[in-house]
Amino acid sequence: MELNISKTSDGAGKPKHVPVLIIGSGPAGLAAALYAARADLKPVVLTGMTFGGQASITHIIENYPGFPDGLEGPHLGELFRSQAERFGAEVVYDTAIAVDFSERHYQITTYSGTYTADSVIITTGATPRHLEVPGEVEFTGKGVSYCGTCDGFFFKGKEVVVIGGGDSAMEEGIFLTRFATKVTVIHRRDELRASPILERRAKDNPKIEFIWDTVVESIEGNDAVTHVNLKNVKTGEASTFDTDGVFIFIGHTPNSELFEGQLELDDDGYLVVNHLMETNKPGVYAAGEIADPHFRQVITSAGMGAAAAIQATRYLESIE
Ligand code: NAP
Repeated sequence: MELNISKTSDGAGKPKHVPVLIIGSGPAGLAAALYAARADLKPVVLTGMTFGGQASITHIIENYPGFPDGLEGPHLGELFRSQAERFGAEVVYDTAIAVDFSERHYQITTYSGTYTADSVIITTGATPRHLEVPGEVEFTGKGVSYCGTCDGFFFKGKEVVVIGGGDSAMEEGIFLTRFATKVTVIHRRDELRASPILERRAKDNPKIEFIWDTVVESIEGNDAVTHVNLKNVKTGEASTFDTDGVFIFIGHTPNSELFEGQLELDDDGYLVVNHLMETNKPGVYAAGEIADPHFRQVITSAGMGAAAAIQATRYLESIE
């Protein structure tokens, strides 16, 4: 992949001005880039730390229309990117570290300089939520993981537990059976939140077992994880469960810290948008998981990104 390193000043320290700046490079950001590019707005996309967002760390995406056999998450991200670039989008490997939406032109500071923009589309996504139990931080990277696709290989021939009962837990648990000899799903209730198709696949998988009505109280080990301490929430009974790895999939937290005090957030920290993807600042839009606690799909995020770019185009026409 060719790297574009951001050049955000004209050499005299002056910010680089762009009509549309897109913060984030997941499906929402890259779909917004495609639409803004096709409107000849020459959008700049700041990738953030992970190009492609969460989709890029998903092993196989089976529910994005047009790909009946599914395709790998990183591959889909590359397809999105090359399609946007074909029409003039510029994807730069840089991260926004401060924003000022108090007056136009809006100002966005990155690691390498400053942009001003007439319109901004925020697609910073969400980050996996932590369990917040003793041992979790200490053993992250030593048995505790939030990404089966990234770390599954390290657990070849080992036994792991998966925490959570949603689609992510099932999908990742199934993926982990490629490597692990046994995957035990530990869920705090006695029924799953996951969609029926993933529930059925997980329950039909001979390598997957379930422990119901149970929470992890702490994670313990020496150099690496050796066991988790559990509590049954119905009986109060405590137990110990030996494991080599702990994969945590209990939802996400929106990456909205940068926008606190500048844009309206809801009680859970998601950016508040209307049906036109507008935030409470004119010309500032949000799309994808940063503004969507409900659907969180590649297709819905991409759709929101496209809608935000169409609306940004109309906005720019209106202020000309
Ligand atoms: P989710 O649907 O919010 O599920 C989180 C799971 O973690 C729930 O089962 C929840 O238990 C459990 N949980 C939450 N906090 C916990 C805690 N402190 N301790 C123990 N367990 C805890 O999150 P997700 O699975 O990441 O999915 C997010 C969204 O992405 C969903 O809309 C999902 O449909 C979508 N998604 C779709 C696909 C797909 O279509 N292939 C794949 C992945 C994700 P409760 O059930 O008791 O609340």
